[in-house]
Amino acid sequence: MSGPAASHVLDDPFGFARAAGQQHGQLAVSALSRLQDQLAGNAGEVKYSVHGSMDPLSRPQLELKVTGALQLACAVCVKPLEYALALQTRVLMAQPGAVPPDDDDPETPEWIEVGQELNLQELVEDEILLGLPLSVRHAQGHCSSGTQEPFGAKKADSPFARLATLLEPGKTDKR
Ligand SMILES: [Zn+2]
Repeated sequence: MSGPAASHVLDDPFGFARAAGQQHGQLAVSALSRLQDQLAGNAGEVKYSVHGSMDPLSRPQLELKVTGALQLACAVCVKPLEYALALQTRVLMAQPGAVPPDDDDPETPEWIEVGQELNLQELVEDEILLGLPLSVRHAQGHCSSGTQEPFGAKKADSPFARLATLLEPGKTDKR
């Protein structure tokens, strides 16, 4: 198979599905431009593998697996958190303009429009974006802000703490 410098483009994706083709590669996280906003750091790589086949209804499909580690920002302390990517999905392919209307069946995989070639980097990026959690946080005990409130909020109960210290002298005045 092709080396690491291979282009991430599938020629004749429909033929690839009919021939049960397989392709894999890896992408630098820093090359996934649409992902950058979601990241706390962009070191490392993601690996993908694509496996073409015909589904039981004779529709051309691609099964996609993506693995790697992404640096996401913890929702509590805003520090980087390593998120293990382990994505497995499949998409059905249709010629441009030939995607069937939504059949409302949640079991139906996503359809993608495919022309003469398919950019696997874009597909991988799309699927990562779709699969990312809305927010992540460190496991308890691993978060650098401990049990405190999110960045900037400081201690929500500090007004009460201040009130308590204001009341305290009154208490001690009682003899
Ligand atoms: Zn955290």
